[in-house]
Amino acid sequence: MFVGLKPGGSQLATAPSQESGGMRFSYRVFRAFGIDVRVHVTFVFIVAYFAVVWGALRQPGGGWGALYGVLLVVLLFALVVIHELTHSRMAQHYGIKVKSIILLPIGGLSSMEAIPEEPRKEFVISIVGPLSNLVLGGIMVAILPAVVSWSSLSAGHLSDLLFSRSFTGAYLYVLVSNLFLGAFNLLPAFPMDGGRVFRAALAWRLGRPLATRIAVFVGQALAVAMAIAGLFFGGGILLVLVAIFIFIGAQAEGSQDPVQRVLAGLQVKQVVRPGVHVARRGQNLGEIAARLFHSYQEDFPVVGGRGDLEGILTRDRLIAMLGQHGPDYPVADAMRTDFPAVGLDDRVAYVLEKMKAGSFKAVPVVEEGRLVGMLSLEDISEVVSLLSAGGEDILRRVPSVEPPSRRPSTHAGYGSDQASEPGAETGSAGDTEPPG
Ligand SMILES: [Zn+2]
Repeated sequence: MFVGLKPGGSQLATAPSQESGGMRFSYRVFRAFGIDVRVHVTFVFIVAYFAVVWGALRQPGGGWGALYGVLLVVLLFALVVIHELTHSRMAQHYGIKVKSIILLPIGGLSSMEAIPEEPRKEFVISIVGPLSNLVLGGIMVAILPAVVSWSSLSAGHLSDLLFSRSFTGAYLYVLVSNLFLGAFNLLPAFPMDGGRVFRAALAWRLGRPLATRIAVFVGQALAVAMAIAGLFFGGGILLVLVAIFIFIGAQAEGSQDPVQRVLAGLQVKQVVRPGVHVARRGQNLGEIAARLFHSYQEDFPVVGGRGDLEGILTRDRLIAMLGQHGPDYPVADAMRTDFPAVGLDDRVAYVLEKMKAGSFKAVPVVEEGRLVGMLSLEDISEVVSLLSAGGEDILRRVPSVEPPSRRPSTHAGYGSDQASEPGAETGSAGDTEPPG
């Protein structure tokens, strides 16, 4: 019976928890190494279950039986806590904050701010949990002859001993639970520990995105096999629950690939480059080409006489048209006008799709009819690298670009044509408008 209970045993929760407590309806039991160990309210069910099984269903039962059942739950979850603390201590060693450990009926969850993307670190953090149980189990096997008398061991069948209300029974129960916790969690059923170890090992060679896809596939295949075993081959309903847990967990983490996760929360105003050079529709390609010698900007928004955005002259288009028509060809005839409409509040992930669909390397960002800046693939990939390396906390230090109306006097001091020409570095986006 005990076997089905631990499996969920030792997930590393990746999703940062909403509150400092980690999960609603959970209560702090104690604190170790700066980590709150909490018990979820549903935990009473597992305690009640053990009390009922040992108090009513097993002989000799009664009040002492119920108490013995509760003792076994406490011992069992002490092993889960050891397992989770081992994960957490290793994570802390790598500088990762661990918020809490939460005990649920199906196991424990270490809620840490992030799982490191370096395969080596994820590998180590994930594997030490199951190893802690295997080592403990191994020690218990080694000292078995010293702790338990041979006569009590040989007194009955192992399963009889395991379910007997005795010191030997409790000892064997803890021993077997340790070995089970260690072995089961090493199954490559992502996002269980073994699945993370598997993913990390793959990521060394294949890179994390592909490794994650493979691990998710294998994890979900194993979850389906567990569910079938639970439903049709006597595995029990708990195995089915664990299978569902793994299947959904794999799905959630698979779609949470770091790049996607970082992008999902990002808005254009956080990554837009406000100081851009613009081209005017009256200019010719030669003028713009000359500017390219002194600029790292490759694509130029094209503005009309009133400062309204009319198109974008991409580097590819500039080169192609220069080759075909020469330097006197007008910008207005070379620019692309099929650029996607992008505002400051749009999600970067959405814009990225639009850019890919239209083969744009950069797009102008427009707010209330005015050009406020540019967003380029380079800018996005740079931001993703920074956030992946430094954590998403960096974002809080980044000032957002505001729409022109929210800023005072957008082009004070920029009355000359200079500001509107490519090559004239503009201090802020509003200044990219020509004076009209
Ligand atoms: Zn674990």
